[in-house]
Amino acid sequence: MTFRETRAGPLALVMAIILICEPAGAAMSDEAWDEQLAQVRHFNTIGQVAQARQLLVQLTPALAQAGPDQAFEYALLDAHNLALGGELEQGALALEPLLATTTDRTRRFRALTLAANLAAAGRQHEKAFTHLRDALALRQHIDHPEYLSQMLSNAAQMLAAAGETERAIALGQEAVQAAQASGIAREQCVSGQRLAYAKEKNGQLDAAAEAILAALAFCRAAGDRVFSATLAMQKAALLTSRGENGAALHYLDRAERLFEQADYDRGLAIARVRRAILLAGTGQIDAATDLARGQIAILTQAGLWDYVSEAHGLLAQSAGDGGDYVLSLDHLNQRIETERRQLERERARRLAYLQIAFELDQREAEVEQLRNQALSDALLAQASQQRSRLQIFGYLAAALLIVILILLVWQASREGQHYRRLARRDGLTGLYNHTRFFENTDALLKRSARRGIPLTLVLADIDHFKQINDEHGHLAGDTVLERVGARLRAGFPPPSVCGRIGGEEFGMVLPGTGMDEALRRVESLREEINRKRESDHPADIRMSFGLAEQRPGDSLASFRQRADDALYQAKRQGRDRAVCATC
Ligand code: GH3
Ligand code: MG
Ligand code: MG
Repeated sequence: MTFRETRAGPLALVMAIILICEPAGAAMSDEAWDEQLAQVRHFNTIGQVAQARQLLVQLTPALAQAGPDQAFEYALLDAHNLALGGELEQGALALEPLLATTTDRTRRFRALTLAANLAAAGRQHEKAFTHLRDALALRQHIDHPEYLSQMLSNAAQMLAAAGETERAIALGQEAVQAAQASGIAREQCVSGQRLAYAKEKNGQLDAAAEAILAALAFCRAAGDRVFSATLAMQKAALLTSRGENGAALHYLDRAERLFEQADYDRGLAIARVRRAILLAGTGQIDAATDLARGQIAILTQAGLWDYVSEAHGLLAQSAGDGGDYVLSLDHLNQRIETERRQLERERARRLAYLQIAFELDQREAEVEQLRNQALSDALLAQASQQRSRLQIFGYLAAALLIVILILLVWQASREGQHYRRLARRDGLTGLYNHTRFFENTDALLKRSARRGIPLTLVLADIDHFKQINDEHGHLAGDTVLERVGARLRAGFPPPSVCGRIGGEEFGMVLPGTGMDEALRRVESLREEINRKRESDHPADIRMSFGLAEQRPGDSLASFRQRADDALYQAKRQGRDRAVCATC
């Protein structure tokens, strides 16, 4: 495995904040100020942020009488302290007046170095590279090797992280030289670590290993555990890439111990994930997954996506091996998501670097390419959105089609019912038509014969109906027919069957009813019609009836003939009466 920039990047950036204000620069004119500021610097450097803040607060009232040197040092330490306390933005804001007003090159150089540092730690890459570029432009005017070393090693780190490894190596080497000139072990430790990192990023693994060893000696001498641990992790990564896992584990143990002593949780979590990867590589899956699982929360909180992704990869593998595919899939999805975040971050950094244009002439094409990449990502997302919209539209169209089909089928069935009804019923009165009525009569005739129960057929005819038509019009005639139909239906409810068998002729067949009972019902109906004629009908309505009771051996024809004859007699006897075939 090669040592990737992203693994040391955030860690080193945080360390850089700690480093940037380290040894005192210009000599202080006032001894008390000098002493106090040195104390603040010391607390900042060893990470005792609260104590440093307390001293800064105590010094605030004295600021009004302070000279420009003290005011500058105070502002720088204040910004540094805010950043160390996690208030990166406040720290950057505190630097802004300094950047706007400071004309002294050395002071400006130091403010720019810290500002670049804070912006990089806050992942404000454009701002970081802008400050870095401005600081680099001033470097030939700076003759303090420790300030130079701080800025150059910071630049090496940031450029290596942005993929500018050649340039990072050149700056890293300059940083190492400046650190050597300063004679400060910690500067040598830091610049050595950054140079090693840049070389590793550039694929010069042997050279990187050498640089690591050299730097380690200085870090140890300076007593800097965080940097020593970082270098040990780098060394482990190099060993792993050569397949020397045992030795790599040894360095990782060392790194973990040092991070623990330094109380540096993030570094510890990173070292543990690396160890988990090594353990998994040697088949110790259970130990590896336990270790990896325990680091996810802290790594996520720190936004160290590449390590979060590695941890999910291990957990996905072990869940898959254990047959828990749902959990495995969940970890895989999280792995993909965190990888995407990491890539996005790397791309943003690279783009920021290129946009600040350290070497603009050669970079425009690359900027364009990265922009196109972002554009094509956006287009892809848009296309997928449109696809899902089309899909929804498709579903809706299909649903609509189904609804239309259901409506059509429903309508067809209703129409079918209507036509079936028309085929059976008379349209004007709603009674059975001639055909259907006599079919029913025939069926009842047979059934009654079988069961030996009585059946009576009544044929009815409106008297002088032609006259009604002539006097009141056909529409009134129709109304009369309708109302007579309704009367008959009311007078002879089921199981009786009623039909309109001709223009103004009707038939009723009464199962289970003998002649006497049938006659009684017919007479009562006839009387009712006569009674109501004035109020209910547009015309004077009277009706004649012929009744026949079923006889054994009757056919439909003979049965009907007798009823017909009886009706004819009723007409002949003067109408408005009922005549029974046997009466
Ligand atoms: P009778 O007392 O002898 O039965 O005399 P009538 O006038 O009732 O009998 P006729 O057979 O002479 O006339 C029947 C009339 O019924 C003739 C026809 O115009 C009329 N008619 C038949 N169907 C309809 C119809 O659906 N609507 C209307 N308004 N009249 C109809
Ligand atoms: Mg007639
Ligand atoms: Mg008639």
